Amino acid sequence: MRASTSGGPPDVWLQLEADALVSLTCQRCLAPVATPLVVDRWFRFVADEATAEAQDDGCEEDLLALEPRPNLLDVLEDELLMELPLVPMHEVCPASVLAGLSASADGGDQDAPPPRNPFAALAKLKK
Ligand SMILES: [Zn+2]
Repeated sequence: MRASTSGGPPDVWLQLEADALVSLTCQRCLAPVATPLVVDRWFRFVADEATAEAQDDGCEEDLLALEPRPNLLDVLEDELLMELPLVPMHEVCPASVLAGLSASADGGDQDAPPPRNPFAALAKLKK
């Protein structure tokens, strides 16, 4: 509980701390890269969703509605997802993987499958 900035009754706050190590795919060498995610956030609880929406633009902290009661595991999941890097990458890619890549680039490229078009799935939906 913390004193309210508006002079009303004290506000309920939640500090959420979490850390996780997830295995992502390095976008440079395509090998797994262990990526640490760290969450340390403060949330201020407000009465309901409408209050949260009304106050959201005017304050820096994150707001959570008390009703409906939020599922804290969902909140935690969202926070961890937001910490995911857009482009996961090794700081220094493992040399063995890089050696394998340059070896395959020197020859045998004809056997490589064509690059997957990420929009191909969308084209199917259009029909
Ligand atoms: Zn890498």
